[in-house]
Amino acid sequence: MKIHNFSAGPGILPAEVLKQSAEACINFDNLNLSLLEISHRSKNYEKVMLEARNTVKELFEVGDEYEVIYLGGGASTQFAMVPYNLLTENGHAAYVNTGVWASKAIKEAKIIGNTKVIASSEDKKFTYVPKGYEIPTDADYLHLTSNNTIYGTQIKQFPKTNIPLVCDMSSDIFSRKVNAKDFSLIYAGAQKNMGPAGATMVMVRKDALGKTGRKMLSMLDYQVHIKGDSMYNTPPVFPIYVTLLTLQWLKKNGGIAWIEKLNQQKADLLYNEIDCNSLFYGTVVKEDRSNMNVCFLTNKPELEPEFDKIWKDANISGIRGHRDVGGYRASLYNALPLESVQVLVDTMKEFEKKFA
Ligand SMILES: *Cc1c(COP(=O)(O)O)cnc(C)c1O
Repeated sequence: MKIHNFSAGPGILPAEVLKQSAEACINFDNLNLSLLEISHRSKNYEKVMLEARNTVKELFEVGDEYEVIYLGGGASTQFAMVPYNLLTENGHAAYVNTGVWASKAIKEAKIIGNTKVIASSEDKKFTYVPKGYEIPTDADYLHLTSNNTIYGTQIKQFPKTNIPLVCDMSSDIFSRKVNAKDFSLIYAGAQKNMGPAGATMVMVRKDALGKTGRKMLSMLDYQVHIKGDSMYNTPPVFPIYVTLLTLQWLKKNGGIAWIEKLNQQKADLLYNEIDCNSLFYGTVVKEDRSNMNVCFLTNKPELEPEFDKIWKDANISGIRGHRDVGGYRASLYNALPLESVQVLVDTMKEFEKKFA
């Protein structure tokens, strides 16, 4: 039975990736050993790590001025590692608050050093993306969150600035073309759009590092991990392998250009139904709507149990809204086929036909 998986995270992975990953748990690379029981320093695994790092650079179209590492601890650890590695003792960092994850990043940065929130959409419950704010020219960096996973907004155009740009791309990495060279540091927890939980990708410009004047703890120092080829300590070997397979799947099918087009089709299909259907409405400002996490409510909340029955019968899973927003959230990550969105749209039409 096919389940249409709209989970917000960990999110859907390509079926063939799941199958290959399962096989690697039993017999990796024809070694007759599981990937889970070999050294991360074995030749076979070193190749995985190297490819997993290089494929990120290839998809982002950047050169050797950047390094890619994979770490444990989730994107949440990066909320602390970013200021720890980039925020100088006497300097300050600028943050834009676009939601729950940005707020958590700000909380950690404030513990490390001088942190200013230069724009926020908290006044309207994070239902839009702030624009046109002034960026201090003397800040050590500007931190953005490209996609607001919980409230369903997305930065469509990144601000222009001369200070280093840092971005949490956890929930829309490799979903669309971005000019990666405009960023000094990009990070993402793998489990939304590029792999399973357990690995976090960090891509950083080498020349952005080593400037804080801080005495660094080894495990929290990007330079230590770079020097160790992302194997300073035992890396999350299996999540990195599954991430590599997912990135290879993306490349094989046509890369960023292909997925961007498909993701736009999926988002258009669903938003169009939300706008046409008399029983639903979207929760965020139209121009800032996320192509990854589509949040919507029904204007007859008393009928929610009826709609729930319809979509559950259609083998749809994971569209319950976040507890802060309520209603519904459909996550349209890369591995979700257009066909699944069509099934969801059909259930919305059926609901309207029966109850409007
Ligand atoms: C899920 C998410 C996080 C947190 O990721 P963890 O890996 O659970 O720490 C951070 N930022 C964004 C944008 C997210 O969607």
